[in-house]
Amino acid sequence: MIDHPLVEFIVRNPGLAETLIGEHVDDGQGYCRACALDAQRGYHSYPCSVRRMAELAHRVEQSSALPDRHEVAERADRRSSI
Ligand SMILES: [Zn+2]
Repeated sequence: MIDHPLVEFIVRNPGLAETLIGEHVDDGQGYCRACALDAQRGYHSYPCSVRRMAELAHRVEQSSALPDRHEVAERADRRSSI
């Protein structure tokens, strides 16, 4: 169940959720360390929206029962050889 385009984007890019979760961390003062780099617009309190999206995407990845690509490719091969 994906209800946000950014979450869907993260899910479609394997490893991106982990990368974002690793970068968007609490700086120890309640702010996101990664988003604070772009501080002209003010600090983003932690968890920032990117972090929340990444965590949501990570949960979607964990819960999704998508067949792995190898299996899909094998099925496609069999179909084309008939
Ligand atoms: Zn952030």
